Amino acid sequence: MHFSELGLKAEIQRAVAEQGYDTPTPIQQQAIPAVLAGHDLMATAQTGTGKTAGFTLPILHLLASGSNDRLTRIAKTPRVLVLTPTRELAIQVEESVRTYGKHLPINSLAVFGGVGINPQIANLRRGVDILVATPGRLLDHVQQRTVDLSAIEIFVLDEADRMLDMGFIRDIRKVIALLPQKRQNLLFSATFSPEIRELAAGLLNKPVSVDV
Ligand code: AMP
Repeated sequence: MHFSELGLKAEIQRAVAEQGYDTPTPIQQQAIPAVLAGHDLMATAQTGTGKTAGFTLPILHLLASGSNDRLTRIAKTPRVLVLTPTRELAIQVEESVRTYGKHLPINSLAVFGGVGINPQIANLRRGVDILVATPGRLLDHVQQRTVDLSAIEIFVLDEADRMLDMGFIRDIRKVIALLPQKRQNLLFSATFSPEIRELAAGLLNKPVSVDV
């Protein structure tokens, strides 16, 4: 299979080609059509399988295909939220979004703890389409009313098993409670433990399951 068969926008295909990829990895072959079709997703995938592009590419396509009034809104509130367990992963995911979205008018930002909050506030004010965040710092922004989660259309939990191991379950539940009811949910985990199963059962609506 070639990337051109997935129906992604030309701008995204160009960015992918510039990265030197021609064949989608197994998780990408399964996840990309499911996400493009608007389904929720439960993906069991390790790091190194290409999972980041597996959710980033179809999300960019969906955002870029949406109603343009959203893209040209004056105050751009995030439409996509990606939660990650660590700042390193948040940075890495946001870099992927930037790389694959470089030919599209889409803004992304990573917010995470351990650094000053004020530069993040200034960046949030400029308008963000895709927000990548660690749970604690995201809730700090919510509390300070420097982020608005009321327009989130797609919610991604990346490395969900690590998030649970790190004790983020309460924070995750707080974040989910702030999101609009109607949204698309994507859950990625390296393992499929009873705890992940329970989280998935509460979060996902008729998910497509992908296991690589
Ligand atoms: P990830 O599992 O998302 O951390 O990705 C692992 C690595 O695979 C990253 O360095 C990507 O740049 C690379 N990668 C992702 N998709 C592809 C692909 N279809 N072909 C070749 N490399 C890829």
